[in-house]
Amino acid sequence: MTGRTHDLAAITALLAVICLVVPIYNLNMTTFLVALLANQIGGILPDIDQPTAPLWKNLPIGKLVGRFFDKSIGGHRFITHSLLGVALFGFLFWMLLNFLHPIMPSVDNLIVWWSFMIGILSHLVMDSFTKEGVPWLLPFPFKFGLPPVKSLRLTTGKAIETLVVFPGLIVISGLLIAANYNYLLQLLHQL
Ligand SMILES: [Zn+2]
Repeated sequence: MTGRTHDLAAITALLAVICLVVPIYNLNMTTFLVALLANQIGGILPDIDQPTAPLWKNLPIGKLVGRFFDKSIGGHRFITHSLLGVALFGFLFWMLLNFLHPIMPSVDNLIVWWSFMIGILSHLVMDSFTKEGVPWLLPFPFKFGLPPVKSLRLTTGKAIETLVVFPGLIVISGLLIAANYNYLLQLLHQL
């Protein structure tokens, strides 16, 4: 999947969780903004194992660092695309949030952390729909995909992703917003 599909998927997943699973009742502006940023970073973070990842492309020496990362973490769709990687990212991000807490005390770390984790998990789920599949259970090296029959899965950046998946995510987000309009409005009013 492309970076923009991952970003949209991350925000859609976040919306789905706060609308359907765990409603949030207390939110301040700083938490809202940091959580949104964390969600978007989480949404593309697993692709740091790709030398062409947007993260690397936007840095001056990014290409070089990207290539080094690619080699040192086992190539594309390896550890960063597994539950082990998710746990590792989660642990490191939690440490970072706690470290930063004294300078941003109004941030609700738990909301920001969950927002980040939802972004990362949405990435792995979305990549599962592509032909390459995702090695969810590393070190067990088998790649899983949805549906299990590889020929029925998507190819990154091709027409189905652009014409069906991306608009589909917009529609899902739209439906979630429409169905939970009052709740979301109330949440935004608190900011
Ligand atoms: Zn990926």
